[in-house]
Amino acid sequence: MVEISADIAIIGSGPGGSALAYRLKDCGAKVVVVERGGYLPIEPANWDAEAVFSHGRYKTSEQWFDVVNGTSYRPGNHYWVGGQTKMYGANLQRFRKEDFDDLEHVDGVSPAWPIAYENIEPYYGEAESLFAVRGEAGVDPTEPYRSSPFPFPAIPHEPAVALLVEKLNASGFKPHPLEMAVHWEGAGCNAEFPCSGCDGFPCYAKGKADAETQCLRPALESKQVELLSNTLINRFTTTPNGKQIVAAEGTRRGESIAIKSKMFVLACGAANSPLVLLRSHSSAWPDGIGNTYDQVGRYYMLQNQSALMSVRPFGTTDLTMQKTVGIHDFLFEAPGFYYPAGAIQTLGKLTGLMIQSDQPYLPSKLLDGMVKRSIDWWMTSEELPDPNNRIQLGKDGRIEVTWRPNNEQAHKVLLTHVKKMMRGAGYPFNFHKRFGIAANAHQCGTLRLGNEPSTSVCDPSGRVHGVENLYVADASVFPSSTAMAPTLTLVALSLKMGHVLAAGR
Ligand SMILES: Cc1cc2nc3c(=O)[nH]c(=O)nc-3n(C[C@H](O)[C@H](O)[C@H](O)COP(=O)(O)OP(=O)(O)OC[C@H]3O[C@@H](n4cnc5c(N)ncnc54)[C@H](O)[C@@H]3O)c2cc1C
Repeated sequence: MVEISADIAIIGSGPGGSALAYRLKDCGAKVVVVERGGYLPIEPANWDAEAVFSHGRYKTSEQWFDVVNGTSYRPGNHYWVGGQTKMYGANLQRFRKEDFDDLEHVDGVSPAWPIAYENIEPYYGEAESLFAVRGEAGVDPTEPYRSSPFPFPAIPHEPAVALLVEKLNASGFKPHPLEMAVHWEGAGCNAEFPCSGCDGFPCYAKGKADAETQCLRPALESKQVELLSNTLINRFTTTPNGKQIVAAEGTRRGESIAIKSKMFVLACGAANSPLVLLRSHSSAWPDGIGNTYDQVGRYYMLQNQSALMSVRPFGTTDLTMQKTVGIHDFLFEAPGFYYPAGAIQTLGKLTGLMIQSDQPYLPSKLLDGMVKRSIDWWMTSEELPDPNNRIQLGKDGRIEVTWRPNNEQAHKVLLTHVKKMMRGAGYPFNFHKRFGIAANAHQCGTLRLGNEPSTSVCDPSGRVHGVENLYVADASVFPSSTAMAPTLTLVALSLKMGHVLAAGR
């Protein structure tokens, strides 16, 4: 077995793991980042909708088991250096202050986090600066307090979006410039190298700010940080009393490998991090590390998500980069509905081929004609944490997912009001598609933060209850899903954790 030594071993190079590596690069510790995937190739197929959407070129070929429906499915997970951010839509937004408190929804209460917005606010600023976020403060009335400005101005709207924003403002809505992590001026994506807006595609223009480009590559410039790619970690071993992790064991290119370290950080994402803990059962931890109270893998959340295509009958919209506007008018309530409904933002521009990969019976001529006249939206409503929604290991190691969506009434209300809003703005035809278990882009919640070991897996600092040298730095620690995009928050949490770990040395 190959043995590698480190002071701090980070398992997983998504935004959680890579932001932590970045923060620790100058702290004097030897940091090893362990990643199951390799570097995603920059190639023309990056922007080929057929390769990406119809064939899932960059997606895992794993099959997970849907316990509720008794079927297998191919999840939306992408195992690359940089994690899911290689494919993400690059919208980096802060959770709202209200998201950290108890928030009443139509289906129940979204629980308070054990940290307040004020505790994380400075790290949101650091995270925005690390990812070179573009935005404009002071337009969105739901925006929380900020102590630092956006690092870069917002991306300008293309004419059809600018006209829509004008109309919506005139009708009393408050659209705001979307917070985007892209290198817009100079090298990268811009009018010279136009792309349709990141969502679901790797970046051929090297313009998307992701975990690899913004965090890991700069971290690797320090001699103290090393990356072990193509290395899959299966389990941890512990001291006999289970209080200290001794090694992370796995395989690298067919060979067994053990990473020995003083400190370990699990950052494999909300589905895979609990699986590593569950596989690490021993006499000290018979049901898996941190699982005395059967909490590991529970509260799996995806959010309620839909895409909406709003089509106008006359005149093309001629959009390339439409992903520049967000609307939070229905975030905390909607007309006649006194609960949160959800958030909307423009999607990367849909193409006929993208829709056809999902709806093959629709003729491409019709679809091409529609997308030329459309503005397309991404809509999210909060999903509440339900202990019965969970990730488990089957007897043969099969990945099993139990997921029943909740709070769906809120999402229906959101759809109704957005369609009405768009009809009023001159887009009478509105078609939506609701996503299900396989669209797990915003997966979170399976190792949640909390003060009580009986109802959580990690303490408020991210340390696993009952283990002295194991932390979690990814979306699995979220106690609630919110209706917002998750990445900026998990990066801010990692930077906060990095501050504590570096000071501890
Ligand atoms: C199409 C798409 C669009 C999205 N758009 C947005 C957006 O616009 N804004 C936003 O905020 N979020 C967006 N997201 C979500 C965002 O990408 C994720 O929330 C975020 O990447 C999660 O970070 P993470 O660190 O928790 O996990 P991940 O990004 O999943 O990283 C985990 C890493 O661990 C590695 N790994 C897993 N298991 C093991 C193991 N056993 N051993 C070693 N390595 C392992 C994985 O390969 C991966 O690199 C999008 C996601 C997708 C797929």
